[in-house]
Amino acid sequence: MRAHPSTTDLQAQDAAHHMHPFTDEAALAQKGARVIVKGEGVWLTDSDGRRMLDGMSGLWCVNIGHCRAELAEVAAAQMRDLAFSNTFFQTSHPPAIALAAKLAELAPGNLNHVFYSSSGSEANDTNIRLVRHYWACRGKPQKQVIISRKNAYHGSTVGSASLGGMAAMHAQGALPIPGIARIGQPHWYREGGNMTPEDFGKARARELEEAIHRIGPDSVAAFIAEPVQGAGGVIIPPDSYWPEITAICEAHDLLLIVDEVITGFGRTGNWFGSQTFDLKPDIMTIAKGLSSGYMPIGGSMISDEIADVVGQAGDFAHGYTYSGHPVAAAVALANLEILETENLIPRVRNHIGPYLGRTWEGLEDHPLVGRAETCGLMAALALTPDKARRAAFAADEGVVGEICRDRAFANDLVMRHVGDRMIIAPPLTITEEEVDELIRRACKALDETHAILRQTGLM
Ligand code: PMP
Repeated sequence: MRAHPSTTDLQAQDAAHHMHPFTDEAALAQKGARVIVKGEGVWLTDSDGRRMLDGMSGLWCVNIGHCRAELAEVAAAQMRDLAFSNTFFQTSHPPAIALAAKLAELAPGNLNHVFYSSSGSEANDTNIRLVRHYWACRGKPQKQVIISRKNAYHGSTVGSASLGGMAAMHAQGALPIPGIARIGQPHWYREGGNMTPEDFGKARARELEEAIHRIGPDSVAAFIAEPVQGAGGVIIPPDSYWPEITAICEAHDLLLIVDEVITGFGRTGNWFGSQTFDLKPDIMTIAKGLSSGYMPIGGSMISDEIADVVGQAGDFAHGYTYSGHPVAAAVALANLEILETENLIPRVRNHIGPYLGRTWEGLEDHPLVGRAETCGLMAALALTPDKARRAAFAADEGVVGEICRDRAFANDLVMRHVGDRMIIAPPLTITEEEVDELIRRACKALDETHAILRQTGLM
């Protein structure tokens, strides 16, 4: 490991000069950031030498585990050969070409074309422009509106944050942009009331049809959704939800954009969540696991039909300097090879996913846990003071979740909270022993949270 300044010096400089994403800067400056200096497999080490289990794969991205030397070597070799070359103006290069061909082979259905970006946010911005341009090319320029869902996360740029349904994001910076409508999310535990999950799933899907009728089918361009809402709290829809949504999209000539930024590249036990949930996207957003987070790269996988229509219509006036960046593309390709040759995805589907599922579901015995759910290697715990009623805590939403997150950190487990849901998404390489350790630490965090709630009268 390379030498670094002391933790105190790092924290002081960080507080003085570094504005962090999604962070209360004043609170962070008081506390000082935890500075991570090393990664290895599912483990992270901080600047004080403490090792913690990374239950979140970074930000849901390090699918093959931290710091594989193979990828470092691929990046170094590509930098020596061709560190940068653009993909505009009728030029291309071998890494962007090879990765595009590989993605076309892996992606479901007829998604045989990729438009590269450096992130999921950028890819979703591409999607907004692409679907509107597509309908215009088809002689239907009035088909502009994109329908998304409340509590969805599609990114932080102006376009992608507008597509998302996070109220706190829309409250800042005059969002959303026009031309985006939203329906409810299939979050049965929280919003299902007395309905069965199946009935609730259908009811939430039918909101799409109602929205189409309200807006006018001739004005609706597309529906966008994550197969499983990730940042919204790992919300796994009832089985009835997706078949109904798919049928509605087909009946009303809507494009289906499936945002696979989290669910792609093995997370749900298949290459893509679209395969797990039997979806037929017209466009698929990819990022994160595409390179396992080793380089910033994302993209939009695009159907033959859309690529053909847009391709026949002259320039699509859109692109990023780093679309198909050679080093990022070379690293992504090597990452896909590791996922494939090490059989990591069947392993999630048949072995480590079900193993996590069994052990995680055991946490439902804990007095604070109302429901423990998994889908492949993404998992959520719904915390509640009253399991029978699926009740919320008297404290503001998120207060209890944050206590539990802090107790997880104190026990050297990176587990995130979304409101009062605790979530994990560990690297696909996690072993059974590491899953056991993760569960032990999560259980300890829950016990300590329970004790704090009792001491402070929050429960
Ligand atoms: N879509 C989804 C479903 C995501 O989870 C995220 C990031 N968490 C994004 C888009 C945005 O990706 P990025 O942060 O790479 O811009």
